[in-house]
Amino acid sequence: MNQQHAIVIGAGIVGLSLTRALHNKGWKVTVIERHPQAQGASVRNFGMIWPIGQSQGSSFKRALRSRQIWLEMSEKAGFWAEKTGSLHLAYSDLELQVVKEYVEALQNQKSAHHLTVQETISKSPATVINGLKGALWSEDEVIVDPREAIVKTAQHLERLEGVSFVWSRLISRIKGNTVYSGQRSWSADKIFVCSGADFETLYPDLFESFPITKCKVQMMRLVQQPLNWRIGPPLCAGLSFIHYKGFEVAPSLQKLKDVYMEQHKELLELGIHVMVAQNGMGELTVGDSHDYGLNLSPFDAMHTNKLILNVLKSFAQFKDWNMGSTWHGIYPKMTNGATEFIFQVDNMVTIVNGLGGAGMTLSFGLGEEVVENI
Ligand SMILES: Cc1cc2nc3c(=O)[nH]c(=O)nc-3n(C[C@H](O)[C@H](O)[C@H](O)COP(=O)(O)OP(=O)(O)OC[C@H]3O[C@@H](n4cnc5c(N)ncnc54)[C@H](O)[C@@H]3O)c2cc1C
Repeated sequence: MNQQHAIVIGAGIVGLSLTRALHNKGWKVTVIERHPQAQGASVRNFGMIWPIGQSQGSSFKRALRSRQIWLEMSEKAGFWAEKTGSLHLAYSDLELQVVKEYVEALQNQKSAHHLTVQETISKSPATVINGLKGALWSEDEVIVDPREAIVKTAQHLERLEGVSFVWSRLISRIKGNTVYSGQRSWSADKIFVCSGADFETLYPDLFESFPITKCKVQMMRLVQQPLNWRIGPPLCAGLSFIHYKGFEVAPSLQKLKDVYMEQHKELLELGIHVMVAQNGMGELTVGDSHDYGLNLSPFDAMHTNKLILNVLKSFAQFKDWNMGSTWHGIYPKMTNGATEFIFQVDNMVTIVNGLGGAGMTLSFGLGEEVVENI
């Protein structure tokens, strides 16, 4: 039997995940990426593989499968990945109540535990102790540095037999089983469009009719901490309980949301929830804010970054707060609450998109599911 051939458009994490899954099922794969290397959301994120943020059930299962693949990929492709776990710090009785309710609700489903103040401090020297009530500890989270991991994953896949990459080529048209870039064209049995936040180039009419929008996220990176000082697990606090759907199992969450709305309205309006993760080189990735819509400002608001840093200082302490870089990323986000968007344009072309702020956490698992269903 002839080997089946697929074209994957886009070398972000979604395109790479499909490429891996297709290769594993014996497909020949050609990945076509408009830039000399991926420059989209997949290299601009925290690098948090974050099962704790997923609702229990199929999303959580997919996140755990992705986590396993990330760890395997880090070995094969030779990039840094650490099984850090994660700490959600509680500074009010109500936040602590949410932690306890969450742990109780998911006793046998997630590796989540309530930590006392002493136990919390022993997990991370970066924790601000003043006012600390305890924390939620989860074992499942993994950190990679996306700037390294995405590039090395692509390099690893490119070395596999039957997988090739075409860099610096924008696909501007798809007709039947053929994709076009200027005078060049490529044909295959199946085409997967993994174009992330680029809704304009391919199928703009379809994207316009989908329940999907864009989200701009502001980020910062603090310099390498001195003397190999490590913060341990990534840290976040009260705003993250409100941000992630997974915490909706806690009955007190609505009360916490009301308190934040009353006391920190501006933070919620700017979609700020604050997290910090350390990469293998000791740098600290900090974020973020969420601005939704199709008309996003190309400029980053320093006021937003200041607010993020102020919140961060309320729960984290570092050796060196000097800024290394600031940037923003844009990801596609479903407006109907779905975790992804898979659309069969015809019997050749499938669009895989809409993973929102969880593409690093979910894509590897999703890629396998999509290929399984071809
Ligand atoms: C700041 C930020 C922080 C985040 N943090 C996390 C996190 O910690 N954990 C997590 O799980 N998720 C996180 N996310 C979400 C995650 O990064 C995204 O869900 C994911 O990267 C989306 O991957 P993608 O492949 O769809 O898009 P992209 O990474 O944007 O890739 C799409 C690729 O397609 C290429 N392309 C587009 N159109 C064409 C065309 N016509 N021809 C050729 N090439 C084309 C683009 O150049 C691009 O490289 C974050 C996102 C952002 C922005």
